[in-house]
Amino acid sequence: MTKPTMEEIVSLSKRRGFVFQSSEIYGGLAGFYDYGPLGVELVNNLKSLWWQACVRDNDNIFGVDGSIIQNPLLWQASGHIAGFSDPMVEDTVTHKRYRADQLAGVDTNDLKELAELLRDKKSPEGNKLGEPRQFNMMMQTWVGPVEDDAAKVYLRPETAGSIFTNFLNVKDTMRAKLPFGIAQIGKAFRNEISPRDFIFRVRELEQMEMQYFISASDQDEAYERWRDFAWRFLTERCGIKEDSLSWHEHGPNERAHYAKAAHDIYFDYPQGPKELWGTHNRTDFDLLNHARVSGKDLSYIDESSGERFTPNVIESSVGVGRLLLAVLTEAYDRDTIDKEERVVLRLKPSLAPYKVAVSPLLKNKPELVSFAREVYADLKKEFGMVMWDDNGNIGKRYRRQDEIGTPYCITIDFESLENKSVTIRDRDSTKQSRFQLDKLVETLRPKFLQ
Ligand code: ATP
Repeated sequence: MTKPTMEEIVSLSKRRGFVFQSSEIYGGLAGFYDYGPLGVELVNNLKSLWWQACVRDNDNIFGVDGSIIQNPLLWQASGHIAGFSDPMVEDTVTHKRYRADQLAGVDTNDLKELAELLRDKKSPEGNKLGEPRQFNMMMQTWVGPVEDDAAKVYLRPETAGSIFTNFLNVKDTMRAKLPFGIAQIGKAFRNEISPRDFIFRVRELEQMEMQYFISASDQDEAYERWRDFAWRFLTERCGIKEDSLSWHEHGPNERAHYAKAAHDIYFDYPQGPKELWGTHNRTDFDLLNHARVSGKDLSYIDESSGERFTPNVIESSVGVGRLLLAVLTEAYDRDTIDKEERVVLRLKPSLAPYKVAVSPLLKNKPELVSFAREVYADLKKEFGMVMWDDNGNIGKRYRRQDEIGTPYCITIDFESLENKSVTIRDRDSTKQSRFQLDKLVETLRPKFLQ
């Protein structure tokens, strides 16, 4: 199967209610998107899978949900105010701004190297480029009635901030001993120079992040553990094939200002292999700096040795939107059934927005409809996301459900009335089999755990 194009993914997303342009009736806003009825289900399924795997399956990972706006000293301590920037270059005629590294086609933040590479290059409009410089991506606003520097605050550019500021709170309230982790799912904001590739690079994003606090001697082992966690989550829980993934190790000019080592997992997106998930060794950079700026003691005392030290941190960080785009790209398939081409989303049943669709074979036969309504009500009570679908002929209904990834379609026909059986049609194989109604729930339940 060939990879879908971005146009195919964008078109399906809009047509079927996964993703809409934000404030579309006003022409939208670059770098902002809304999730539609199906998208929000898929997002929620991805988030709860991650929360399960990261927090609930581990004894020593605790969750928090921090505020988006925090005391700006936090971002001074973390180095974001000074260093959270991307290299930017300007078209000298149109004054349009571009990511210098993207125009140069390299992964580096080094301005000298970029200036060299861009020396003979023109802007996409064919004009001379200015000198590359750093552009800070923090979004800012003011709290309270006066818009002066004292009231200036930032929308968080990553969720990690409130994890570090809650290190002591979580350690003390949960009586946590090293190693332990703090996890969070939440919105972050980055004033990206050129938002692009649909929901891949946006200005309002959602992250799933976990910071794992350890002693310095455990760095390497923990780093490997969380790299492995990311890889296994994507392949085992999200159904992404290993062939679609690759590792990318950050070079020295590419790493974030706090990182000693960084490995990204790249996914083969429609626009090419790009970063999906980062694992970073942030060393003791964060807690040391928060201790310095806040004046609070953020050190840890090891109970057995009595040694006092500042914990090191391994970070695992993935964007929800980038994960959704990867899952849609991976699941998108086309095949031909009865000489008719179909688009099918081969989502894992645990991720599918709708688990089952229920249809009466004919919608103008009241006895079929009322029996089908009973089956629908029972399944809805059991599985929640069940769709009633009596629109168009059966073939059309199947195509519609295939496109949104519904794993099973149940049809009530005349035989159902005679012997209380239903047909279940499998999305991937398109095979139909007959089941007794009283076995239906127990037949379906284990499938949705896959
Ligand atoms: P990139 O190099 O693509 O700009 P990054 O290295 O700055 O990403 P991190 O700061 O490591 O990204 O953020 C962690 C994760 O958050 C990324 O792996 C990605 O999944 C997600 N992410 C970061 N920036 C964006 C964005 N602008 N839009 C959507 N997701 C993002």
